[in-house]
Parts: sequence; C-alpha cells; structure tokens
Amino acid sequence: MKNVYLDNNATSPVAPEVIDAMLPFFRDLWGNPSSMHYFGGQVRKYIEAARLQVANLIGADPTEIVFTSCGTESDNMAIRGAVESAPRGTRIITSRVEHLAVLSPCRRLREQGYEVVEIGVDSAGALNTDELRKALAAGPSVVSIMWANNETGVVFPVEKLAKMTKDAGGIFHTDAVQAVGKLRIDVRDVPVDMLSLSGHKLHAPKGIAALYVRKGTRLTPILPGGHQENGRRAGTENVPYIVGLGKACELAAWNIKAEMERVAAMRDKLEHGLLTSCPDTMINGDPARRLPNTTNISFQYIEGEAILYHLSDIGIAASSGSACTSGSLEPSHVIRAMGVPFTAAHGSIRFSLSRYNTMEEIDYVIEHMPAIVKRLRALSPFVR
Ligand code: PLP
Repeated sequence: MKNVYLDNNATSPVAPEVIDAMLPFFRDLWGNPSSMHYFGGQVRKYIEAARLQVANLIGADPTEIVFTSCGTESDNMAIRGAVESAPRGTRIITSRVEHLAVLSPCRRLREQGYEVVEIGVDSAGALNTDELRKALAAGPSVVSIMWANNETGVVFPVEKLAKMTKDAGGIFHTDAVQAVGKLRIDVRDVPVDMLSLSGHKLHAPKGIAALYVRKGTRLTPILPGGHQENGRRAGTENVPYIVGLGKACELAAWNIKAEMERVAAMRDKLEHGLLTSCPDTMINGDPARRLPNTTNISFQYIEGEAILYHLSDIGIAASSGSACTSGSLEPSHVIRAMGVPFTAAHGSIRFSLSRYNTMEEIDYVIEHMPAIVKRLRALSPFVR
C-alpha cells in the first residue's frame, strides 16, 4: 500500500465536490464582484451563498463572516485589529501552545510596547485557568486562546474561557482553525467575539479562510483599501476559493457527528494498535479532551524525524511537531510547554486523520510501525 495520508492537520485533500463547485468560476464566472455590469453582478450572489454556508457551519449570521486569505491572516486580523481599536493600556493574553499564527503577532505587539501574557498548560495540555483569571483581573485585555491544539488535538474549554473574559470586560478571539469541521461549533452557545477558520484544514484549498466577527465587535481593518467585505478586509474577492470554502463547510456540516465518530474510531484503533505493539510509547495530551482525528504519540528514546523518514519510505505521511516547526530537531514549543521529558519529546509523532482515511490504511500503519521502532531503538544511544 502506498500513500497513506495521516497529516490532515497540516493540510487536507480538497474534496472532489469542492473542486467541481469551483471550476465554473475559473472558466465562465470570472467577473469582478464589485463591477456594476453583468459580469460582476452574476458572481456576487455566489459569494453571498458561500458566506451563508460558512455561517451555517458555526451558527453565525452571514454578515458576521469576513473572508480572508488564510488562517494566519484571520488570526492577525483579529488580534491586531482588536488591539488597535481597544483603549490604551489594553493587554494581550494568549497561551503558550498557540500556533505561530497567533504567537508571532502577539510577540510583535510586545516588541511594540504592549504587555503580553502567555498562559501555561499542564502535562496533559490543559490550560491553567487560574493564571488566566489573574491575568484578566489586571486590566482591559484582548484574549486569543485556541479552540483545539494543532499538535496534540487537545480541546480547550472555550465556552468557559470566553465567559471568564467577557465577565472581566475583555475581547475574546479563538483560533478554531483545527476545530471547525471536526467539532460541532455554535457561536450562539459560546460567547466568543471572533473565531478563525481555514479552508485547507477542512477539504477546501489552501489560500482561503474566514474570520467570524460577532456583531458589535470593534475591529480596525488591518488591510485597508477598497470597500470589499463591508470595509473589514480590502482586496478583490477570491471568488472560486470563496465558493470552494462554502462548499467545504456545507459538506462538513453534513452528518458531522457520524463522520467524526467514524474518524475517531479509526484514530482510536491506530492509537491502541501502536501503544500495544510498540513498548515505551505514550500519548501526549489528555485523551478524553481531544479532537476526534488527532493523536500525538511519543516513541521514547528515538528521533521523530527518523520515524517519519522510515514511514515516508513505505508511503505513510505523518508529522512531528507542526509543519512550521518541523525541519528543526528541537521539540515543538507545544510539547515543551507540556513538560514532556526529553527522551519522549524528541520522539513525538502526530497522526491526524480525515474522513477520507480507511481502516485498511490504519491496519497498514499498525502492521509496519513496530519494526520501524525496533530498528531505530537498536541504534539509539538512550536505550540500554
Ligand atoms: N492556527 C492553527 C491552529 C493551525 O493549525 C494553522 C495551520 O496549521 C494556522 C492557524 C494557520 O492557518 P493557515 O495555514 O491557513 O494560515
């Protein structure tokens, strides 16, 4: 068997239905939606239809959806836009396990003189809510805390965190790039002010995303220019990709519970199979509070990169750390923040599944992994 793709948190294959939905917007419906003539007018309605599809997936009103170019842009837009329209002295609160799409803009703001507090997590990846409570009590704040972690899949109690923030008078943004399409999310039940999602994590192409902005939220546009997106994000709309994101959201909403139970069953089988057939392995992150598609397993005493290399040789794609941090042999900031011991941190592998995986693929991984681990352990200086 070749090409078993278990790296869906890095990016996911584009759904065939999404490709079909996009094609007419390259061939025929290529007008600029802002144009007054027929060419523009005929495509405008498809943007609005896609906006409704995205809104429906998260229980939002379509007017609260702003299309952007990627999850990174959505995160930057939320954090920098909220800080710019907030009163002087506003602080930024985030967590130590955020994606760099959040951590980097926060650290840039720190360099510009803002106070930035990074909340820690425990060894299971759970957020220290006492630290958050203390930070919120110190003054007005913009809070950005992720819905689910891209590396471990650990899901944060966003409803509780958002309530704590609102009670303290703060603004709450959540990076839900890994959660949307994998968990049922309804912004009518969870008082977030802003929420980021990204197309390529839910079977739309790379280069299209959205930011949910609750009605009444004050947000300075970080990309000023034309009047597109109601003045909130300038730039001629990427119509084919917007249509693709809409279709992907419609597909994700369809039967999400049953689909994700099926994905979780494959993930659980993979996890159980690897933990029982490979000694000295451990799961990183609280198994009871995770995305249904993700497992992060440490194969102690061996290098994650070496495992990936051997897996890749037999057609299995997984990842160590996040796609952005792999390439360096340092364990990722997420694994380090959890205090995973050195010999386990270096051998951590993320397997992330999607609805396109099959049980046969899982069996294939379980069949081949023990031999790879055994071979690498035989060479490891850490194994006696
Ligand atoms: N936030 C999280 C949690 C992610 O996992 C990613 C991508 O891996 C991003 C943000 C960035 O999204 P994009 O690749 O669309 O910029």
